[in-house]
Amino acid sequence: MVVEQLGREAVIAAQAVEEAGRLARMQQDLATAAHVKPDFTPTTVIDWAIQAIVAARLLRECPDDLLVAEESAAQLRRASNQSFWRDVAGLVRRLHPQASLSQVFDWIDLGGGGTEHRFWTLDPIDGTKGFLAGRQYAIALALIEAGVVQVAAIECPRLSPPADTDGTTETMSSGGTAIAVRGHGAWWKPNLTNELVRLKVSSCTEASAARLLRSYERAHGDSELLDRTAKALGTHVPPILLDSQAKHVTLAMGGGDLLIRIPPNTEFREAIWDHAAGSLVIEEAGGQVTDLTGRSLDFTTGRRLLRNDGVLASNRTLHRVALSAIRRARHQQ
Ligand code: AMP
Ligand code: MG
Repeated sequence: MVVEQLGREAVIAAQAVEEAGRLARMQQDLATAAHVKPDFTPTTVIDWAIQAIVAARLLRECPDDLLVAEESAAQLRRASNQSFWRDVAGLVRRLHPQASLSQVFDWIDLGGGGTEHRFWTLDPIDGTKGFLAGRQYAIALALIEAGVVQVAAIECPRLSPPADTDGTTETMSSGGTAIAVRGHGAWWKPNLTNELVRLKVSSCTEASAARLLRSYERAHGDSELLDRTAKALGTHVPPILLDSQAKHVTLAMGGGDLLIRIPPNTEFREAIWDHAAGSLVIEEAGGQVTDLTGRSLDFTTGRRLLRNDGVLASNRTLHRVALSAIRRARHQQ
């Protein structure tokens, strides 16, 4: 199986995130200077440069499609001095040697598109804290039509392929891309190869043996409630801590059984680019994704999942028991 068999949009998405991943890998040293945004999340020159190059590619390949992405040029202008801007433009010029600074800003601002009938959503660096600290990070791109995620590509430059494939040492160290198309499965493409490996969730049926995938950053959710949920489940297995949608991909690979994201407070709503691609990869690998009350994720509410309360993803078999554990843990509050 090769990505071309999954259709034009899958090829576009996979090429876009792979190209972005190559840039991120080559330029890790440049990312030491992070700008901290008003919501206290860090952003690096790589975040902005990747948003510009992915937006430029989508503009070229799918000129009628909209893009909804995490960063904005206004924040970049506010953020930083002109040497920071020059670093962003310098990275973009590796792929677009003629691009002016204002062209780069314009490409970044394509990410402010609407969420009408058909649009792409991008997290240029998902897990920036992991990226900076040498842990996991991802570049996540999804195509949404009428509120339904149709195509997803998640580049994970530091993630190993599934253990039961014959990945060589070379591909192990260079990561890969998870690709999913609704109705056509979820796949892992090790970087530097063309062959796709089918992704399949675990067959774990016992809550006591469930491996929980948790954010590395405890502050990204209500960690105490998550601790109580793990207790209510009765799992004896230590959780797997990972930044970014590398968690979603790991669940789709069968490397974990449950992913529970509990909002840090009652106002917080998840960003669509943090879950759109990941949710399709999990569903197409045989898993299930809802919010913490069992409702489907609703991608028709703009940049954030306004009608959803957190996220629960599972290997499907454990979904009901996990929903019940979340309910019981919440009642103990
Ligand atoms: P993770 O590594 O799974 O926690 O996911 C990283 C994502 O968490 C980032 O892309 C942000 O969108 C999001 N994030 C950042 N800060 C917070 C926070 N305080 N609470 C919840 N999510 C956050
Ligand atoms: Mg993110």
